[in-house]
Amino acid sequence: MGSIKIEGLKKSFGNQVVIPGADLEIENGEFVVFVGPSGCGKSTLLRVVAGLEEPTAGRILIDGQDVTHAAPARRKLAMVFQSYALYPHMTVQQNIAFPLKMAGASADLIKTRVHEVAKSLDLLPYLERRPRALSGGQRQRVAIGRAIIRQPTGFLFDEPLSNLDAALRVSMRKEILDLHGRLRSTMIYVTHDQVEAMTMADRIAVMNAGRVEQFDTPLELYRNPANLFVAGFIGSPK
Ligand code: ADP
Ligand code: MG
Repeated sequence: MGSIKIEGLKKSFGNQVVIPGADLEIENGEFVVFVGPSGCGKSTLLRVVAGLEEPTAGRILIDGQDVTHAAPARRKLAMVFQSYALYPHMTVQQNIAFPLKMAGASADLIKTRVHEVAKSLDLLPYLERRPRALSGGQRQRVAIGRAIIRQPTGFLFDEPLSNLDAALRVSMRKEILDLHGRLRSTMIYVTHDQVEAMTMADRIAVMNAGRVEQFDTPLELYRNPANLFVAGFIGSPK
């Protein structure tokens, strides 16, 4: 469970063509990074996969099912944004529980799941705190906790670490990769940071002006960049 296929995807806003055409096949359990300069359409592509934007043309398939016009909640994908967007008036516990509560889960189930999730993210000591009493890294973990509580088949991260300082970014990268190792869920991770892409990804989609220039492993991109843009962006010697 968790393959994601992007087929002949186009997206325009008015007469601005943001994605002239994208095709990608992401396998179940892969950690895929979309990387490219600011404004190249990474967030737009991710938002189309999430169902937050309608594509102008093309299809999105999850596990072979056409979800192009399905509501975000029906796609079983959890989205983690760069701004943590936690509810400031709710405790950590309430923040993590929120999606389950909205889905109408029983109080018992909510309690059990919140405990499991908080434990796996080392958040048990902070359950009664409000977001303002947490560090940046702890807040990010609460955002991840809120994303995993409904046991999604896939995760979509949009520059989740760009608000954090350099040291924290390094440790959070590791936490996200540990999470991937434990859950083995498909993850798409958007960043404009080449180092983040090269160190985290199973495969990287290098984007430029709404096109996927190359989709390959970090090693292949480095050894055999498809063109000068990829070579320049990845920093390989070609
Ligand atoms: P990235 O995430 O790679 O920085 P985005 O996907 O956010 O790039 O943006 C790509 C282009 O699409 C930009 O020119 C941006 O202004 C435009 N864009 C994104 N969302 C909208 C929107 N809702 N309405 C109009 N233009 C948009
Ligand atoms: Mg973006």
